[in-house]
Amino acid sequence: MSEVAVSAEIDDALRARLAAHVRDVPNFPSPGVLFKDITPLLADARALRDCVDALAAPWRGAGLDAICGIEARGFIFGAALARALDVGFVPLRKAGKLPAATRGVEYLLEYGSARLEAHADALTSGARVLIVDDVLATGGTLAAGFELVQSLDAEVAGAAVVIELAFLAGRARWPADVPLQALLRY
Ligand code: AMP
Repeated sequence: MSEVAVSAEIDDALRARLAAHVRDVPNFPSPGVLFKDITPLLADARALRDCVDALAAPWRGAGLDAICGIEARGFIFGAALARALDVGFVPLRKAGKLPAATRGVEYLLEYGSARLEAHADALTSGARVLIVDDVLATGGTLAAGFELVQSLDAEVAGAAVVIELAFLAGRARWPADVPLQALLRY
């Protein structure tokens, strides 16, 4: 499956065009954090289309059954990707947001902890799932998504993010044998 990660490479011109629509916001939400703001990319029709197309490309014909998007910005890219790949969308939400019976996974943040939840009946047993988020930082969120999808008896086919903050080494928390696609790396 590692070929998927290789074929996810995008050309330099597209990478530069997408990167031009990511705004760096220093010291948000707390001092010392350089926030990668993807709202300019969402607002630009061509950048949004190119971004979703590039995320979808390696997964066409890959037999996915569902996209799981992580709250909140993973919902935006995940839902667009689900539409592009003609599969359903399942939200992985913060604690207490889903109305029916849930499964959840606790994970550590820099300060304190968080919990990611999905409806217990959201995925059929053995479903092949792609997990989607906007940014991979320390990797805790995506790792929690992986654990949660597995706890629902589904198979994690891979993950796709728009941005990887490679200097935070979040990829080390993702299983090495499962494709993790990032369009832009910093
Ligand atoms: P992590 O669990 O550290 O990989 O953090 C990933 C989650 O936090 C994602 O859902 C991102 O939306 C968000 N996030 C973390 N760091 C940043 C950042 N520098 N810029 C934008 N979003 C971030």
